Amino acid sequence: MPSPVLRVCALYPDLMNIYADRGNLLLLQQRCAWRGLGFQLTGAGLGDAIDPAAHDLFYMGGGQDRDQALCAQDLVDTKRDALHTAVDRGAVVLGVCGGYQLLGHSYELGDEHLPGVGLLDLRTVRHDGPRLIGNVAIEVDLPGAGRRIVAGFENHGGRTHLASGQAPLGRVLKGHGNTGESGAEGAICGSVLGTYIHGPLLPKNAWLADWLTERALGLDEPLAPLDDGMEDAAHASAKAAAGL
Ligand code: GLN
Repeated sequence: MPSPVLRVCALYPDLMNIYADRGNLLLLQQRCAWRGLGFQLTGAGLGDAIDPAAHDLFYMGGGQDRDQALCAQDLVDTKRDALHTAVDRGAVVLGVCGGYQLLGHSYELGDEHLPGVGLLDLRTVRHDGPRLIGNVAIEVDLPGAGRRIVAGFENHGGRTHLASGQAPLGRVLKGHGNTGESGAEGAICGSVLGTYIHGPLLPKNAWLADWLTERALGLDEPLAPLDDGMEDAAHASAKAAAGL
């Protein structure tokens, strides 16, 4: 049987790529290569339609407010319906920081309201107060993975408010999370995940990359383990930086 191919679509890879968030894609690619799995990367920028059947994992990194403003309406006009269709057939969507915010209903910056795609039941409001910056660690409890730690770095002006039925991705152990006050970080709904955590996220939390890959490929069995000495050290160092 031919090996599965992880087909990834990066949304706005040039505009939404703050803090080297592209490193998340490199990690997915490298772990596929080490395991003999195929990897296919497609970029979808401004004006590009996406084929909901052609990708297993959609990814959008972080961005500055002005870059988000360039992408938000385009995302709704040219990609929202396809993203919903893809999620309905089990595709994974991962948004980091600015990308996370655009997965909700809106990002409100004073009088300007950027629309989101509504895959997560939340809204984000730009706050006049201090940016929420620093190392962060959260505890997550994901199906099949159990209780694990995700650690990294956050820097956002937006405060994200989850609707009452919307599950957070995790519980803040150290750092600020969605609002700096709620104790919640990120959001998850089935195969759609959003988080404020950069790092980049996946090189510091390689176990999460494997969880996403397994889900995106619809694998019944866990992926074969790799020699994760370096990855485990990066994870430990991110946790230690956050004060865990
Ligand atoms: N511009 C958004 C904010 O400040 C997202 C920032 C980011 O992606 N790091 O809240």
